[in-house]
Amino acid sequence: MVVGGGILGTMHAVDGVARGYDVVHVDRDREPRGASVRNFGLIWVSGRAPGAELALALRSRELWEKVAAGAPGSGFRANGSLTIARSRPELEVLEEVAARPDASERGFAVLGPDALRRLHPAVRGDVAGALWCARDAVVEPRRVLGALRAGLAGSGSYTWLPGRTVVEVRAHAARDDAGAWHGGDLVVCCVGAAQSGPFAHELAAAPLRRVRLQMLETAPFAEPLDATLADGDSLRYYPAFAGPALERLAPQSEIAARWRAQLLCVRRADGALTIGDTHADGDDATFDVDDEPYAHLLATASSLLGVALPPVERRWAGVYSQVTDGRLYYRREMAPGVVVVTGPGGRGMTLAPAIAEETFA
Ligand SMILES: Cc1cc2nc3c(=O)[nH]c(=O)nc-3n(C[C@H](O)[C@H](O)[C@H](O)COP(=O)(O)OP(=O)(O)OC[C@H]3O[C@@H](n4cnc5c(N)ncnc54)[C@H](O)[C@@H]3O)c2cc1C
Repeated sequence: MVVGGGILGTMHAVDGVARGYDVVHVDRDREPRGASVRNFGLIWVSGRAPGAELALALRSRELWEKVAAGAPGSGFRANGSLTIARSRPELEVLEEVAARPDASERGFAVLGPDALRRLHPAVRGDVAGALWCARDAVVEPRRVLGALRAGLAGSGSYTWLPGRTVVEVRAHAARDDAGAWHGGDLVVCCVGAAQSGPFAHELAAAPLRRVRLQMLETAPFAEPLDATLADGDSLRYYPAFAGPALERLAPQSEIAARWRAQLLCVRRADGALTIGDTHADGDDATFDVDDEPYAHLLATASSLLGVALPPVERRWAGVYSQVTDGRLYYRREMAPGVVVVTGPGGRGMTLAPAIAEETFA
């Protein structure tokens, strides 16, 4: 049995069915609406720390390609990314990481301004260069869960029960709020940032924190922009860029520092631009979204692209759960045969297939 219909739960269902299990899959919502549908959909290799984190991301990237082949509606695209430098010191950070031994595994190449404009004509801003990452990819977050479930539906081994909240667990079983007990070899609970019901005590005591992000989406952007864009603020955020050149960077703008903002910009399958993000304490969050960081992110995206952006059509916030003890994610057997898996932070979409594989291993 799998509890939670976000990307972690769904990938455990995919892997479980592939291994020959009969899987019952429940979510408290009629259609999942947690972090997995609110994100960028990035399968992000470029920013991962060297070593274990990169290895897991590369394994996951490989699994994503395989899984997406059986779920055509997922919108998986090996579109690559461009981390864009707007100054000589930012470019030096990119050159430093492109010279490291793991650069070829990530598919890194530094592009000067002329090559960048030739290969990616939609990026017309006044920029110093960019880091191309060929291994980065993307899926459509609003479609991917349904597409994966549709792929499972034909297996004959999969039952999807939305609108059921798990309210009790015991060895090898969980009870939902309709009163039904679901038993099995294994109950995998992927409840995301929720810390309620039978998971409240376990997760409140675990080394986890919640982080809240603000996002927006524009009307379709007419230019042919395939690659995901990231700005220089992302150099401070992703561990891959740590090193002497990063130490030499001038401080971030005051507004980016206050909102712990970085620009990520994905052109969706329908042409809309998903733009974010900010980072704030998720336990302390208000229910509304603030305008100040949006103005900053829109201005940054517009300056990289060198054109005015289409109008904003929607804004939202999302919360993820993140481990705080240096692990890549949190997994613990909270009762015999009942395993809780959460806490991959801002890399859950990326790592979900490999995390599921490790759970079964
Ligand atoms: C704005 C934003 C942008 C992000 N961008 C990226 C990105 O581009 N790339 C990336 O790799 N990661 C990204 N992340 C992180 C990623 O989205 C998360 O790590 C991932 O979605 C977590 O998946 P999950 O399945 O654990 O959680 P969720 O998607 O939150 O799913 C948990 C599910 O459990 C259900 N549930 C909870 N309690 C119960 C219960 N008692 N009974 C039944 N069901 C229950 C909930 O209804 C929910 O559907 C981003 C996150 C956010 C918020």
